[in-house]
Amino acid sequence: MREVIIIGSGPAGFTAAIYAARAELTPLLFASQVSMGGELMNTTDVENFPGFPEGIQGPDLMQKMQEQAERFGTEVVYDDISEVDFTGEIKRLTDTNGTVHEARSVIFATGSAYRKLGVEGEERLSGHGVSWCATCDGFFFRDKTIAVVGGGDSAMEEATFLTRFAKKVYVIHRRDSLKASKIMQQRAFDNEKIEFIWNSEVAEIHGESSADRLTLRNTVDGTESELPIEGLFVAVGNDPRTHLVHGKLDLTDEGTIAVEGRSSQTSASGVFAAGDVIDPSYRQAVTAAASGTVAALDAERYLAALDGAAQPEAAAVAG
Ligand SMILES: Cc1cc2nc3c(=O)[nH]c(=O)nc-3n(C[C@H](O)[C@H](O)[C@H](O)COP(=O)(O)OP(=O)(O)OC[C@H]3O[C@@H](n4cnc5c(N)ncnc54)[C@H](O)[C@@H]3O)c2cc1C
Repeated sequence: MREVIIIGSGPAGFTAAIYAARAELTPLLFASQVSMGGELMNTTDVENFPGFPEGIQGPDLMQKMQEQAERFGTEVVYDDISEVDFTGEIKRLTDTNGTVHEARSVIFATGSAYRKLGVEGEERLSGHGVSWCATCDGFFFRDKTIAVVGGGDSAMEEATFLTRFAKKVYVIHRRDSLKASKIMQQRAFDNEKIEFIWNSEVAEIHGESSADRLTLRNTVDGTESELPIEGLFVAVGNDPRTHLVHGKLDLTDEGTIAVEGRSSQTSASGVFAAGDVIDPSYRQAVTAAASGTVAALDAERYLAALDGAAQPEAAAVAG
């Protein structure tokens, strides 16, 4: 049986592993079969992670985090957890081969997935002009013409934020009115750099080495048109990866795993959660990493408290 099992290999999971391993809890980390390394594997330059003044490629950063976690004794398994049982004091996690792994504590760091458009060119040009995060990538689009897809609060926030850098921001929305709150809408309407393209969806993203043109389809009459751009931000929603814990852990109204205050304590004793799966607001590599630290420290204290509670009895027996 393990002291701690970590599910997820993004910045939250690996940072939790570094702390847990250095506390000699010899963590077992499930890194996933197909998407090991988390969201940063899908990007190129990361310029806002402290300690890398020249920036670092997303996959290189994740490789370094993994090496650091392994250096202190983390065991990494390239498999997914497909089922969890948090009911007893011993937690039981089943992998995709059906093997059951037991642990005294679990750190759940499965991240969240930005919704994709599912159109031709999107995967290929991800990190090459196509982005899901204005905070992360807006800086790369100084004086460029870019487009934002979406009609909710986050799309308006991204579009307004991007006008700090871009010379022009198109907002492409499939309807003729927005879902965003009135105040966010007004802020975008008032911004001279923003132009709305209504009743339209992106049908294809073009570009050789970087996105340079969109095919738009009119959602009313189906006609197609071309829009030259230098960047595209997709802001059509985000889904925390919580399907494993539905009905097992409390969730928030935003769909993230609920934790107590600033801690990582979930609604199940001995189960801690960290990173984007608990975060509806910030969703950055450094905030996920910090949250992984909190989870490892919480797990360590939880285990120490269990051991402390067990010791007086053991002492009494020995005496
Ligand atoms: C294109 C892109 C660019 C970005 N650029 C930046 C940037 O420049 N700077 C920045 O700070 N942030 C950036 N971000 C945001 C950043 O990547 C996330 O905030 C961060 O990765 C969240 O870390 P996490 O550990 O919580 O989750 P993730 O990174 O999402 O990692 C979770 C991992 O858990 C795995 N997992 C899920 N379920 C299971 C399971 N059942 N079993 C095993 N494994 C499982 C997933 O497959 C995934 O590998 C970017 C995001 C994207 C999408």
